Amino acid sequence: MAVSDTQSCSWEFADVALDLPLEGTFQYRIPEPLRGQIPRGALVRVPFRNLTEIGCVVGFGDKPNTDKPIKFIAQRVVPDFRVDGDLLDLARWMAEYYFCPLGQTLACVSAIGLCDVSKRRERLVALTDFAAHYARWKRGEWPPPKTTPQQQLVLAHFLETENAPVLPAALAELIGVGDGVIRNLVEKGTLRVIEIERYRPDFYPAAAEPDRPHPLNPAQAAALEQILGAIAANQFRAFLLHGVTGSGKTEVYLQAIARVMEMGRQAIVLVPEIALTPQTVERFRRRFGGAVGVYHSRLSLGQKYDLWRRIKSGEVKIVIGARSAVFTPFDQCGLIVIDEEHETSYKQGESPRYHARDVALMRARARGFPVVLGSATPSLESYYNARQGKFVLLELPERIDSAPLPEVTLIDMADEVRATPGGPAAGILSRNLQQAIRERLTAKEQVILFLNRRGFSQYAVCLQCRHMIHCVHCDVLLTYHKWNERLCCHYCGAEQKIPPHCPKCGEGEMSLVGIGTEKVEEMLGRLYPEARLLRVDLDTIGTRTAFIDAWQQISTGQVDIILGTQMIAKGFHLERVTLVGVIAADIGLVIPDFRSAERTFSLLTQVAGRAGRGERPGEVLVQTYMPQHYAVRLAQSHDYKAFYSKEIEYRRILAFPPFTRAVALIVSAKEEQRAKEQAGNLGAHIRRAIRAHADRDPAMRLLGPAPSPIAKIKDQFRWRLFFRGHTPSVMRRVLAEGIASYEKAYPKPRLQLVVDVDPQDML
Ligand code: ADP
Ligand code: ZN
Repeated sequence: MAVSDTQSCSWEFADVALDLPLEGTFQYRIPEPLRGQIPRGALVRVPFRNLTEIGCVVGFGDKPNTDKPIKFIAQRVVPDFRVDGDLLDLARWMAEYYFCPLGQTLACVSAIGLCDVSKRRERLVALTDFAAHYARWKRGEWPPPKTTPQQQLVLAHFLETENAPVLPAALAELIGVGDGVIRNLVEKGTLRVIEIERYRPDFYPAAAEPDRPHPLNPAQAAALEQILGAIAANQFRAFLLHGVTGSGKTEVYLQAIARVMEMGRQAIVLVPEIALTPQTVERFRRRFGGAVGVYHSRLSLGQKYDLWRRIKSGEVKIVIGARSAVFTPFDQCGLIVIDEEHETSYKQGESPRYHARDVALMRARARGFPVVLGSATPSLESYYNARQGKFVLLELPERIDSAPLPEVTLIDMADEVRATPGGPAAGILSRNLQQAIRERLTAKEQVILFLNRRGFSQYAVCLQCRHMIHCVHCDVLLTYHKWNERLCCHYCGAEQKIPPHCPKCGEGEMSLVGIGTEKVEEMLGRLYPEARLLRVDLDTIGTRTAFIDAWQQISTGQVDIILGTQMIAKGFHLERVTLVGVIAADIGLVIPDFRSAERTFSLLTQVAGRAGRGERPGEVLVQTYMPQHYAVRLAQSHDYKAFYSKEIEYRRILAFPPFTRAVALIVSAKEEQRAKEQAGNLGAHIRRAIRAHADRDPAMRLLGPAPSPIAKIKDQFRWRLFFRGHTPSVMRRVLAEGIASYEKAYPKPRLQLVVDVDPQDML
């Protein structure tokens, strides 16, 4: 039962969810002076096992739960901060759905606004008595007696600017006087000091010029009308806005948000972290100015706190941010937009392993407002939902002004390797791509080269017929493991040696293929020593502002070749880029993941969308060992619908999402044997639970254990179980029972288990 805040005043005990990997809440006594000052959602510091921990108050009681002595809450942290009621409910749902302790979930939900509560103050100066000075000046009595020429400059400045307060140092510099002059005027009482609190700025510049809404084309207008209908009716509804790159999706978001603002409500816009470029933010600031706040995990704690206060004061009405901005504590949220909704970065890779799209849908459903999911290449799940009538499909089939989509050329790398055996760049940069890069360098145009880095392991390909070795049971590619020199299936665990000759054509030699960004960077350096090269990937863009720095270098033309991962596939709108090269389209395609075709299709489509955004037409060259693969072929022809039809059949036959719900379980241990054994035993207990509940969800299946595609991380061996079924609630029950009965049977050594609900990758 929800307890209202006023009622909370009288309670003596509080239930606190701690930010620790522990289930349940802990009871604490509220000290007398704090009674009535700790509402539900407040953050508190409490003693716990000889340490002090931070937790969130989630409930109250008037009697102790136990006979043991109950400790006191030490302190309320960030006294003006609390997790609002609907976010608390959202956290409860997340904790249950994603198998994450409530306290940890709340820590994630409340990350905005937390911890650094220091306020930044600034001392400005202004005239003490502007009116008197102004009147004297008007009467021609000006300047007053005993003012030095330098002091007169200062006075004149304030008269000209209508006494706008200014930083002393900035003023001194502006009019070319020493600091002492200003200090002296303060001492004399002519100037007064005004202390104000300044919010810490985010890294994004304020918009240069405001812009106005475009008159919409018919497809945009039709889409907007439906969204506005739901907004006006305070109605939950999920819209899938499917529009090719440059079809005007963002304009539709902007106009929908404008209506939300008119209604006095607020809006959240989620973009992939990578797309949070100054360019994206500027677009929103040009339309909505200072009402736009930016939130992402790389803000400092102080910046987050300041943003939180600007939200609470009503100054910020729109937050644009990455995944965690879905928790923006607006009281009257009227719309959530999720741009590039298919992006995997919306799924958090650590506990709570939530998907921002699903959290947004839950939040919107609970409060009654629409969600708009936008993409040129919707996730199969979302498009399927739209086809099923769960989401409303809105389509923008053409680029604005019917601009053409770029021409995409495929380069068959098997041909290339055979034609240039042992060549310096064989298998990495084809002759065509090398030539095209050289031409752009000569013409002083920019080149983007993509290398989807997610290929961490190698795979076996026949150089003759291009056959690649798949698992006979699972229809995923086998991955080469160095440690046992075998090809292995990451779904069922089957393994085999690399055959000396291709098992399909019987002739071709098998070759292991796989490359990384660093290797390509080195090669580019050798091939084009004169080119200014910038590598953009998670390794080079680690720090808070590095991405923005990189973006600035790129947009101001200080870079000739940009080599990067998906990081540079989004949000860039660069007029000088006339060549986009995809170094290895297959790397994404061959990772042993049922979503690999989908990822590749959408990445190639996005990448192609980067080319030719300016006056000059763009060229896209895609290197691939699998030019016949439907994901590659259909990306070349920009045909999402054909891709969807093909891919959805494959999912149906193999019973993968969206036809089933999936949960990955990863057991890790220092010794390989132990990880395998524990995973096996856990699997047995879960299978027993599946049998016990089979009548409620007959589709439940458990696959594995099998080694995880990254079989070892930080000296921990990882084994995976893969659980599928139809009914999430039954699956949750089965897992909880299976894990509990395993833990009862094998209390030691403790199981190190990650439960990943709706996993987005198979790692
Ligand atoms: P998307 O988000 O689908 O990639 P954008 O909204 O960025 O597309 O639109 C692409 C370009 O077209 C932008 O420069 C945008 O300002 C412009 N634009 C959008 N809608 C219109 C319109 N109705 N008329 C003219 N220009 C438009
Ligand atoms: Zn298999």
